[in-house]
Amino acid sequence: MKKKRTTERYTLADLDNWREATGEVKPPIRLGVFGDPVAHSLSPQMQNAALRACKIDMQYARFHIRASELRSALHLLAELDFIGVNLTVPHKIAALVSLDEIDERAARAGAVNTIRVRDKRLTASNTDGEGFLRAIRSEFSVDLRDLRVMLIGAGGGSGRAIAMQCALENCERLVLVNRTFEKAKALADQLRPFFAGPRVLGPAARLEAVAWNDPSLRAQLAHVDLVVNATPLGMNPSDSTPIPARLLAPHHMIFDTVYGAQPTPLVRAAQEAGARAANGFSMLLHQGALSFQIWFEREAPLDAMRQALL
Ligand code: NAP
Repeated sequence: MKKKRTTERYTLADLDNWREATGEVKPPIRLGVFGDPVAHSLSPQMQNAALRACKIDMQYARFHIRASELRSALHLLAELDFIGVNLTVPHKIAALVSLDEIDERAARAGAVNTIRVRDKRLTASNTDGEGFLRAIRSEFSVDLRDLRVMLIGAGGGSGRAIAMQCALENCERLVLVNRTFEKAKALADQLRPFFAGPRVLGPAARLEAVAWNDPSLRAQLAHVDLVVNATPLGMNPSDSTPIPARLLAPHHMIFDTVYGAQPTPLVRAAQEAGARAANGFSMLLHQGALSFQIWFEREAPLDAMRQALL
């Protein structure tokens, strides 16, 4: 049988027929990422570098799992000899109902990006929020708690985790923007207790939900330091920017969770506006290191993982 390289994608059919599909693959695949799309994911090259650095004889692969296949894929996972998986778009919220245990981080975020398999039981966790926190510190040398943040894509799995991290850090201000406004509104209602404190920062409310393309976005941006894109806009080079360059100003810090070889449309918009910008590589690195720590209960080899992304 032809050996599959980790750059290839496995599917639900492969999981269903795992021993035949991968019997000859060495080292054995015992970790992976489920997503749709998933071809863009750099988690395999980063996690495989970590496994090699730690001399752990297994590998991490990509799995193209559609939304309708997630439940079956997770069910099969519990029966196989896996250590765990990461979940990416569009599975982070939907997976919650198919898991045996949900830890505090995943429960708080209402989203899962890391699953650990043990004794045929699947435990959900979430490292996106903490990964985001570390990425902001390393990219901009600032702490989230000191920032006024606008989060675009607040209704998605990653957006929810980032919003919760902003709340836990008690950041100065949080503006939640989402295409489906009701989700941003519901999240704002959930996070309100975190922002009920006595900080008084002038006329702007500390926590607000704003509709996508709302005319008040420009005024909101005058009271924001950090703009975060947690939508998938930018994954395709032809995507539009989630926020036009003309609304951005040089004082803004722009963080795009999307990453790729080319600058994303949002990073280009930031450069055009003279603002500082970073894409999602550092978040990928830190959330991945935290996942590794959950799977192996040891520190992740951060330098080897970073090198693998250069
Ligand atoms: P998700 O759960 O499917 O959520 C997608 C979010 O984006 C939702 O808020 C959705 O709004 C919004 N959205 C989708 N398409 C849109 C469009 N065409 N226009 C405007 N809004 C749109 O996805 P996810 O798992 O959170 O992932 C989102 C992105 O974050 C992905 O691109 C992923 O690569 C990136 N990410 C990066 C890292 C990293 O480590 N760098 C980590 C996590 C995620 P509605 O609520 O209206 O549907």
